[in-house]
Amino acid sequence: MTKCRVQSWCCILHLSFAVKMTEKRDYYETLGVSRNASQDEIKRAYRRLARQYHPDVNKHNPDAEARFKEINEAYQVLSDPEKREIYDRYGHRGLDQNYAGGYGGIEDFADFGFTDIFDMFFGTGTRTTTRRSRPRAEPGGDVRCEIEITLEEAARGARREVTFERMELCPTCAGTGTQAGSRPEVCGLCGGSGQVRQQQHSFFGTQIRISTCPRCHGEGRVIGSPCQQCRGHGRVRGRVTRTVDIPAGVDSGMQVRIPGEGDAGLRGGPRGDLLLAIQVQPHKVFERRGNDLWCRLTISFPLAALGGHLEVPTLDGSETLYVAPGTQSGEVYSLRGKGMPDPAGGTHGDLNVLIHVQTPTHLTEEQKDLLRKFARLRGEDIKAEEDKKSFFERVRDALDGL
Ligand SMILES: [Zn+2]
Ligand SMILES: [Zn+2]
Repeated sequence: MTKCRVQSWCCILHLSFAVKMTEKRDYYETLGVSRNASQDEIKRAYRRLARQYHPDVNKHNPDAEARFKEINEAYQVLSDPEKREIYDRYGHRGLDQNYAGGYGGIEDFADFGFTDIFDMFFGTGTRTTTRRSRPRAEPGGDVRCEIEITLEEAARGARREVTFERMELCPTCAGTGTQAGSRPEVCGLCGGSGQVRQQQHSFFGTQIRISTCPRCHGEGRVIGSPCQQCRGHGRVRGRVTRTVDIPAGVDSGMQVRIPGEGDAGLRGGPRGDLLLAIQVQPHKVFERRGNDLWCRLTISFPLAALGGHLEVPTLDGSETLYVAPGTQSGEVYSLRGKGMPDPAGGTHGDLNVLIHVQTPTHLTEEQKDLLRKFARLRGEDIKAEEDKKSFFERVRDALDGL
C-alpha cells in the first residue's frame, strides 16, 4: 500500500515536470521577433523589453521579474550564433545540457533498467541502486599558438593578427554528431548509465569494480548513423584569423590567454581559450634581464678620464647620460625607469649601461709625444713598457739582479 502511494507521487512529479517542459515559451516569441530576425533586430527588441520589464521599474508587478528572466534567457541564446543554430534545429531541448546536443532525449528511455542489463551480462543477481548519468557538456580545449614579436613591440604592447587552427562545431549536424533525422541510441552495454560493473573474486572476497563503459566511453549512448562531415565527432577542424592585443611588458616564454577563442565545446559546453606563446626576437642593442635592459657602451679614454655627456640609445629614442671623470671599464650607469614595463602592472625596469673604455690605437707621432709627456707629468716611467724586451726577458733580468 505504502509502496503504491510512493509510485503514484513519482508519477505526478514526473508529469508536472513534463508539462513544464512543453510550456516553455518560444524564444523568438518571447522577444517578439521573427525567426529570421537579424542580430541587430534581436538586440533592439531585447533592449526595449529589458527596459520595460526590469524589476527596478516594476516593483509592484510580481510577474515582471519572471518575464525579465525569460527575456534574458531568450536573448542569451538568440544573440549567440552557435546556440541559436542549435535552438533552431532542436528547440529548448537542444540547449539543455542534460541532453546530448539536441535530440529526443533520454527521458524516453527512463524505464530502461540498467541493473537488469547488468544481470544479463554478468549474472550477479544482486540489485544495486544506480545513478543514471547523462551526457555532460564538454568544454572545448585550449589552443596554443606561437607568436614572435620585437623587443619594441614587447615594450609598448602590440595589436597583431593571428591565424590558427581550432575545432569548430560541425555545421552539418550542429555538434550532435548524428545524421539529420537520426538520433543517438542508448548504449546496449551500459543501458545508458555510462558505467559498467565488474565482479572480481579474490582472497579478500568479492569486489565490484565500476568503470567507464568501453563502448560509449561514458556517454550512455552511441551514434547509429553518424554525420558524414564530422564522422560523429560533432566537431571539425577550422582555420580562423583573430586580432589580438599583446600587453606591454611580455617576455619570451610567457603566455597570453585570450578567453573563449579555443576549441568549440560539445553539448553546450563553453569554448576553450587561445594561448599565445610569446617569443621576443633578440635585439641588436639591448638585452633583457628581468624587467631591466642592458646595453654596452664604448667610450674614449679622454672622455672616461675627463668626464662629460653622451647620448645613450633607449627603446623610444635616446637619453643624455653624464659620465663622471675617472670612469673605469666595467662601471655601470643606470637610467631609472627606462627598462621594460612590468607585465603585472608593477614598476618599470631600468636601463643599465655597461661602460667599456677604449684604449687609443694607431697613434701619430705627435699623439705619442703628448702621451709620453702626460706620463712624465704623472711621474710614470713608461720607458720599460716601450722596451723591445719581452715580459719573460724582463722577469729573468729581475731575477738575475737578485
Ligand atoms: Zn557533423
Ligand atoms: Zn555504454
